[in-house]
Order: sequence, then C-alpha cells, then structure tokens
Amino acid sequence: MANKNKVIIVGNWKMGPETVLEAKRIISSTKRFISKISGVKVIVSPPFVYSNILSHSANKEVLLGAQDVSVFKDGSHTGEISANMLKKNGFSFCIVGHSERRANGETDEMVSDKVSLLLEEKICPIICIGESSRDELGGYLEFIRDQIKNSLAGVSKKNALEIIIAYEPIWAIGAKEPMKTSDIHETSLFIKKVLSDLYGNEIAFSIPILYGGTVNMRNAKEIVRDGEVNGLLVGRESINPPS
Ligand code: PEP
Repeated sequence: MANKNKVIIVGNWKMGPETVLEAKRIISSTKRFISKISGVKVIVSPPFVYSNILSHSANKEVLLGAQDVSVFKDGSHTGEISANMLKKNGFSFCIVGHSERRANGETDEMVSDKVSLLLEEKICPIICIGESSRDELGGYLEFIRDQIKNSLAGVSKKNALEIIIAYEPIWAIGAKEPMKTSDIHETSLFIKKVLSDLYGNEIAFSIPILYGGTVNMRNAKEIVRDGEVNGLLVGRESINPPS
C-alpha cells in the first residue's frame, strides 16, 4: 500500500485548528505546496469534525487519515468511530497508538486490536511506537522491541506490507529540538531488525518507517536524508500553513 519510493509526510493535526475556516485554509495551502513538488505522499489526519473537507474533495492529492479508531468493531459505544465507518467515509490511513493516546490508557493490546480491525477494512495503520526516555544501558531498546512485537501481534506476514511504523521518541514530541539524525538512523535500523525477526528481511526492509518529533521545515530534509527514514509524522507544524 505504501510506495517505498515516495517520502511519506503525515500531518497529525491533533485537536486543532479551532474553526472549519482555518481548516480549509490549511488544506488549501497544503495542496498548493504539494502541487509544486514531486516524490512526496501527503496524508492529513484532521480531527473528525473536519474530515469531510477532505473526503468530499474531488482532488485527491492529499490523502485522508484518522487520528484514532475504536477498539470495537461495532455495537453501542457512545463517542466511538469504527474502522468500517472510516472505510465508508474516505479514510485510507489511521494513526494508532499515538503516545498521547497511550498516555490516556491505550495499551499495546488495544493497539494490536485496532490494527487488526483496520487491516480487515484495508485501511493502512500508522503504528506509533517510541520510548519515553533513554538510559545508558539500552533498556529503551528492549522497550521498543516489546512495543513493536505486542502492537503487531495481529499482523501476519501476509499483511505486514500494509502497515507503516512511526517512530516517535516521546521526549522529542512537542520539544524544542528533534532527535539527532544519527540516533534516528540507528533506531530505524534497530526497528528493521525487530521487524526482520518477525517477518524476514525482505518484508522488514519494505515496511516504511517514519520519524516524528519536532519536525519543521528547517530540519525535515536532513532528517529524511541522514536519518534514513521513509518519511515524517508532523504534529504542530502541520497546522502552521506557512511552514
Ligand atoms: C506528534 O504529535 O506526533 C508530533 C510529532 O508532534 P510535534 O511534531 O509537534 O513534535
């Protein structure tokens, strides 16, 4: 599903902007930007209240992603939105396991269940992983490995090419500086090693790995090039039209 040759940029709008007018303005400037470049696949994950701006757009250069999905397949669950509803309403991607949701109680098991429901609906899950801090003994690597294995528990070899991994060290989200590119590269290699243990080398090297955490227009190119990642997950800057 994810074209390895294109750099994937995911805009996670989180809980913004405040009005539909601003949302339309951001989409217009995002589209203007995309029309001037090539080799980039842009996915925007707005709050659900703004998703029809994109899903009803005839112009599909910006792909629609959700920021979350219900852990329930169907039934009476006030406030929840199912994977099937996403599918029927124009979503092709969905962020799962974002650290801000994990901080609100989302477990690896819930992430895994959500991933399975999304794959059933042929929606590409963007699975967020990342440690909250780093220790000198490398305990964070064990944490990342467990998080990947548990979050991907329901992903078979057959489905493994239908997912995207977003590596977001929590301490670099909403920070002043992103992670050092050499560390991003090293960690992405480690993630590939874990994926290789699960699915074999060929598949592991075909699963796109994104980096997220204080990406902006000044550091984006360097992170993709020197961090050797397949793209970026951008938070705050994705609703800042000039950038
Ligand atoms: C995020 O929320 O996933 C994120 C990366 O945020 P920011 O770009 O603002 O650090």
